[in-house]
Amino acid sequence: MTAQPQRPAFGTVLTSHMAVATYENGRWNGSEMKPVGPIELSPAAHVLHYASTCFEGFKAFRRADGSIHVFRMDRHIQRMQQSARQLVLPEPDAAQLANMVRAVINRCREAVPEAPGALYLRPVLFGTTANIGAAATPTADASLIVLASPVWDYFAGGMKPLRILVDDENTRSAAQMGMVKTGGNYAAALGPTLQARAKFQIDQVLFCPGGQVQETGAANFVLIRDGELMTRSLDATFLHGVTRDSLLTIGRDLGYKISERAFDVNEMLDWVKTGEAALSGTAAVLAGVGTLIYRGAEHKVAGGDVGPLTRALRAQLVAVQQGQAEDKHGWLQPV
Ligand SMILES: *Cc1c(COP(=O)(O)O)cnc(C)c1O
Repeated sequence: MTAQPQRPAFGTVLTSHMAVATYENGRWNGSEMKPVGPIELSPAAHVLHYASTCFEGFKAFRRADGSIHVFRMDRHIQRMQQSARQLVLPEPDAAQLANMVRAVINRCREAVPEAPGALYLRPVLFGTTANIGAAATPTADASLIVLASPVWDYFAGGMKPLRILVDDENTRSAAQMGMVKTGGNYAAALGPTLQARAKFQIDQVLFCPGGQVQETGAANFVLIRDGELMTRSLDATFLHGVTRDSLLTIGRDLGYKISERAFDVNEMLDWVKTGEAALSGTAAVLAGVGTLIYRGAEHKVAGGDVGPLTRALRAQLVAVQQGQAEDKHGWLQPV
């Protein structure tokens, strides 16, 4: 058996170049391509004091013929515009941002790994106005930077079933901020997650405020069983994942019944006696849950291993992303 080469961890490598655009005097300036490096920022910048920032994360895939396709970029750009509006940041121009993404991919084409690797795109927007008295004033100026990071097989070491703590006391974020992809939400979830990791040796915390199942720190939560997919219905309290939407669409195509509704911890624990559970997001696509820990008791999910339906659904979506299965919904855009 040949050992797989050791690859850098997700997100630790950046491409040589980034695209940068600035907003001043009420408009976006033309974007520039720059070598990745330190940026100039006032220590009084709005973002450093009042967390005026949001980001996106999506992938571009290289095919065997050398062509490169971006997955659902339009949805990610729309979500970034929505995050910006919610945070009263200047809204990125959709066409300009798409051009910045394409420019970075083209500048760094040789850095896009072959499947199952991908180029992870990470646009980030932040307020730059220098004013430490602006707690209740939006930033007037902003920067938009598109970073790119080659990423390799997320499950190169095999799919390890996740241990998840079910937390019905803490919240991941303020209720109305859940659907905003903003730095502060991750800072807010970090403390409870690290404490739980030390105490229960878990991978992630599943936040269930008021006993209602919501999501983990950076991924949506899906229940799967023969013929049915269930996940929380969309509301402002959690992040509307593009992977979640893609999986539900593929599930519908495969004849699954799709149940989007609120459900509580007891219903989830009942489901996993026979059904499967998984986390969905761009980085891992779908990661199987093996154990749920609730009020000190361990509940095995469908026997404790990554389930066959989870593997099959993941494989189906990955096949579409990599161009091996038909792109029925026009999710891929060549660059
Ligand atoms: C990014 C993110 C997700 C997953 O979104 P995708 O569009 O599927 O990558 C889910 N939850 C949170 C909190 C996130 O930040």
